[in-house]
Amino acid sequence: MTQDALLARLARLERIIEITSSLNSTLSLRPLLQKILGAAQELTNTEAGSIMLIDRKTGELHFEAATGARSEEIASIVVPMEGSVAGWVVQHGRPVIIHDARSDPRLYRQIQDEIEYETRSLIAAPLAVKGKLIGVLEAVNKCGDARFSEEDVDILVALADQAAVAIENAVLFEQSDLISEIVHEMRTPLTSISGYAQMIQRDDVTEEERQAFAGTIQREAARLNRLTSGFLDLARLESGRATFNREPVSLEGVVVEAVDLLRPQARDKGIALGAEPPGGTLTLVGDRQRVHQALVNLLGNAVKYCRPGDSVTVTARAAGPEVVICVADSGPGIPRQAQERLFDRFYCVPGTGGLARGTGLGLAITRKIAEAHGGRIWVESEEGRGSSFYLALPLDAA
Ligand code: ADP
Repeated sequence: MTQDALLARLARLERIIEITSSLNSTLSLRPLLQKILGAAQELTNTEAGSIMLIDRKTGELHFEAATGARSEEIASIVVPMEGSVAGWVVQHGRPVIIHDARSDPRLYRQIQDEIEYETRSLIAAPLAVKGKLIGVLEAVNKCGDARFSEEDVDILVALADQAAVAIENAVLFEQSDLISEIVHEMRTPLTSISGYAQMIQRDDVTEEERQAFAGTIQREAARLNRLTSGFLDLARLESGRATFNREPVSLEGVVVEAVDLLRPQARDKGIALGAEPPGGTLTLVGDRQRVHQALVNLLGNAVKYCRPGDSVTVTARAAGPEVVICVADSGPGIPRQAQERLFDRFYCVPGTGGLARGTGLGLAITRKIAEAHGGRIWVESEEGRGSSFYLALPLDAA
């Protein structure tokens, strides 16, 4: 190696150390992945890069970040284990170098349209923490169409080793973030319970006030209960520890069951509750209990937020490879700016709910259930004119 080449190599190694310490200080996953991509491009002198991570629940490889692509557009793309470079790296646990991607059968071509760049050459390195594979880092298209060297591979592998640790840390940190959020959410009812419990013991309160305070304590305790069980459920879903059955689920059956469950509540509030199930034959493959839970959440919300005289209707129909269930109500509707955050955990539209304030977990859980089935959920709503929640589930969930 010439003196110049040696110096250049030393500079690259120094840069890796610099980059590594910057990666370790980034605890938020999305910005971290973008930083890793930037570092990979810089260190290997490439035009683009991408990161795929293994879903802990399904073991599938998902596209998580790519140069120039919006993460929400690509995050749902599953990269097949067979017939893809990343799949090859996962299966063999070794880096791979591809000089002419156009003639290599391992390239997964479908992805090209989504990320808007053509792959001509690439290096892919495994992302592994303590011997456990968590994903794949790819550096794509050497600038100026130069050939990748063995040193490029070494550098990408060194970066991938550091990046994997930083990714694992960020994932763990996001989970601890969830814990601080629940502690925060629990504080309000706890403060209120302890305040009213003190009041109840004072000599100067009337019997009537005592009853009212006891009622508030009971309501807040019930809310705490809902918060903790909802939170547990969401944490399980988010961590991928929840297991899902794959069984035939009759749409007619789940719709009728959910409607029957909510009927007494709707009747008491003076809300007309109707259903147009798709008929006896439409069946999807999924987790019956979870599909039921998702439907009850949507129907429960519609009944909860509607006023006497309003109506709620459930419809379900097949649309190509999926079934679309719609829970439509003539209730208060949801302001446009709130619609974007509706499915975030702990989000409640300001000013709704009154005393029976919700937990803001129902829709977050419902979205997770939809996603775990390979489906989607969305809302169409106009303030003052009601809301329609749509749940689309593949007829044969992955
Ligand atoms: P929760 O109902 O426990 O607050 P959700 O996650 O189920 O939590 O719902 C989040 C928010 O979305 C609710 O606080 C409510 O403001 C709003 N929302 C949900 N469904 C409806 C609906 N059908 N009509 C109007 N607002 C709704």
